[in-house]
Amino acid sequence: MGIEVFWYKKNKKTINFLHSDTIDELSLQVENCTKCSLHNGRTQTVFGDGLLQSNILIIGEAPGRDEDKQGKPFVGRAGKLLTEILKSINIQRSDVYITNTVKCRPPDNRNPSKEEVDACSNYLESQIEIIKPHLIILLGKVAADRLLNLDLPMSELRQKTYYYKANKIPVVVFYHPAYLLRSPSEKSKVWDDLNYMKNVFTKNVG
Ligand code: SF4
Repeated sequence: MGIEVFWYKKNKKTINFLHSDTIDELSLQVENCTKCSLHNGRTQTVFGDGLLQSNILIIGEAPGRDEDKQGKPFVGRAGKLLTEILKSINIQRSDVYITNTVKCRPPDNRNPSKEEVDACSNYLESQIEIIKPHLIILLGKVAADRLLNLDLPMSELRQKTYYYKANKIPVVVFYHPAYLLRSPSEKSKVWDDLNYMKNVFTKNVG
């Protein structure tokens, strides 16, 4: 039973002090970043939050109003739902790392443009390089479109395994929790996605 509960902690890595310093430096660069116009409207940047040693990296679309206020990703209603979804398969939120494709809130919560995601991509790539997750979960169509260059409906994106660039890190796509709040009838499909993700993880990590 114990092994089942902690399946996602298998082959967990250690992050050395160098990496810890690197992530702090990166966070400082993001705080001062003006590479795209999204910096104009931000209250503060939303770099990322969670366990640097995590095997699972979750990437959402962009900070919303609550995130912009608090400086942390997924702290509003969608964040609470994400925490519940993770809990349903015994994953504590504190055991994963969560970030977004862009680190500043787009005006009126619009989708970040391809150009904005590209401008911010070095930060995300560095986060992935430091964390070296065994699995990446993309939340929603926009994150999948921008990071995988796949303009497909969610029905075609779910339950498939993609690979992140040359790192060969498996990537799966889940519904964005904000969408699930708007479309509660879709919530029942989340369980299938979680099981799919767990199988991909087990196949990859052993
Ligand atoms: S979204 Fe990213 S690239 Fe644009 S200003 Fe913010 S940190 Fe810089």
